Amino acid sequence: MKILFYDTKSYDKESFESIKGDYPDIEIEYLDTDLTRQTSHLADGYDAICAFVNSTINEGVIESLARHRVKLILLRCAGFNNVDLEAAKKFNITVLRVPAYSPEAVAEMAMALALAVNRRIHKSYIKVRENNFSLVGLVGVNFYGKTAGIIGTGRIGQAMCKICQGFGMKVIAYDKYPAKNLDFVEYVSLEELLKQSDLISLHCPLLIDTYHMINNATISLMKPGVILVNTSRGGLIDTDDLIKGIRERIFFGVGLDVYEEESNNVYENREDDILEHSVVARLLSFPNVIVTSHQGFLTKEALNAISKVTYDNARSFEQNKLIEANVVK
Ligand code: NAD
Repeated sequence: MKILFYDTKSYDKESFESIKGDYPDIEIEYLDTDLTRQTSHLADGYDAICAFVNSTINEGVIESLARHRVKLILLRCAGFNNVDLEAAKKFNITVLRVPAYSPEAVAEMAMALALAVNRRIHKSYIKVRENNFSLVGLVGVNFYGKTAGIIGTGRIGQAMCKICQGFGMKVIAYDKYPAKNLDFVEYVSLEELLKQSDLISLHCPLLIDTYHMINNATISLMKPGVILVNTSRGGLIDTDDLIKGIRERIFFGVGLDVYEEESNNVYENREDDILEHSVVARLLSFPNVIVTSHQGFLTKEALNAISKVTYDNARSFEQNKLIEANVVK
């Protein structure tokens, strides 16, 4: 099987190359460029393409891939909201993904953001580098004894519940389908969670009913001084409403690994660009906000798991033994 790998980063190539010896039947060519309508023809002669979460795999791209006889789209990520699945069905292209690689990687990032913004690590790092050893403006709060509210208790949310429990926090959660194995977690309504939590961490998927679930109405229910963390998807939060809430001093801190309109920025070096209408620039104007670039997944363990499952997906397709849980329909 021949795979064309789009939007390759050094860490992708490293993890895929490190285990290629286990998959002698699979050949990968790496491209820096992302998959677009204009670059889709490069896949001519390949059986499959491999893409990531920020490629737009719309009907035009899929039609072009099909015309170039590509039969398989391998997503090296869990999310698939960037793929037109109707078009994939229409052009008879199979879509496979990596549903879970390391939930702990993302949950640890959520806690890292919560801690960093709480203890103002982002500010003290810069201050000390400038020989400013003053502590003014750096007062945080203890997490010990406080209430963590976890929205969405799937794989990542459950890992986050355990981390918060380890910090000595009371853990409450809201999920449409509560987990049965979290005996230390109290499930409450969304409204109760918003009212009671000192730390709120979002771990539910972006769906029609979760789009902009954090908005003026839900922010107005939150405790003043709350810390909000989003490592899930930017669309869960209405950014304009969030900015209004920050200006109204509702949040002690906000940590965002994902944000609306991130797709032009994510994984690109835009140091020399003047960003127009930038959401990030507006958010970064606040001293109590940290934004990172969708890096929750970025640990060695997660990358290794992603490459192994992607190779296994390719092989399962070749051998006509699809791993059902990895098929995107
Ligand atoms: P999962 O499918 O295991 O869990 C999602 C949970 O959300 C489920 O328990 C589900 O019942 C719940 N849910 C669904 N609709 C809901 C609603 N309306 N209200 C409340 N809960 C609801 O998913 P996961 O593996 O834990 O991933 C969670 C999210 O994390 C993903 O959707 C993805 O967007 C994001 N993610 C981010 C990164 C990153 O690098 N930052 C990496 C991987 C995943």
